[in-house]
Amino acid sequence: MIHGKIPMPRRKRTQADKDRDDAAAERRLLAKFRKHGAVVIDRSRLFSRSMFGGYFRVPTLGIFYKDYQFTCRDCGVQQTWTASRQKWWYEEVGGEMESVAIRCRACRVKERERKAEARRIHLEGLARKAATSAASGTSPVPDSKP
Ligand SMILES: [Zn+2]
Repeated sequence: MIHGKIPMPRRKRTQADKDRDDAAAERRLLAKFRKHGAVVIDRSRLFSRSMFGGYFRVPTLGIFYKDYQFTCRDCGVQQTWTASRQKWWYEEVGGEMESVAIRCRACRVKERERKAEARRIHLEGLARKAATSAASGTSPVPDSKP
């Protein structure tokens, strides 16, 4: 007469078993996302700005970049920041993890030119003040209020 089932001696799952299963699951997941144009993150190359002004490596994040839809701050056009451009920005250029695309390509170029122009005017102003104070032998007087 059989009284119930004799339990099979179950081998305990070891950490190595778990690691192997996790790795397999991650590979399957990556294959799936790659098919949809996702790009894998190389975590060792990511930086974030710390509260203390320095940079630190980001310990954990997602495992892939995904195309990111955004609206250009300047012209309002709907844009896609592609997964591969994100990888380039964060891992090749060294962009901070906190930074994201906010302007379309055309507006980025315009913004860069605007900043360069502002900087040129600022430096010219400094040079003029330096030349004036050198000529008069006095320190420049702050501009009077209108
Ligand atoms: Zn724009």
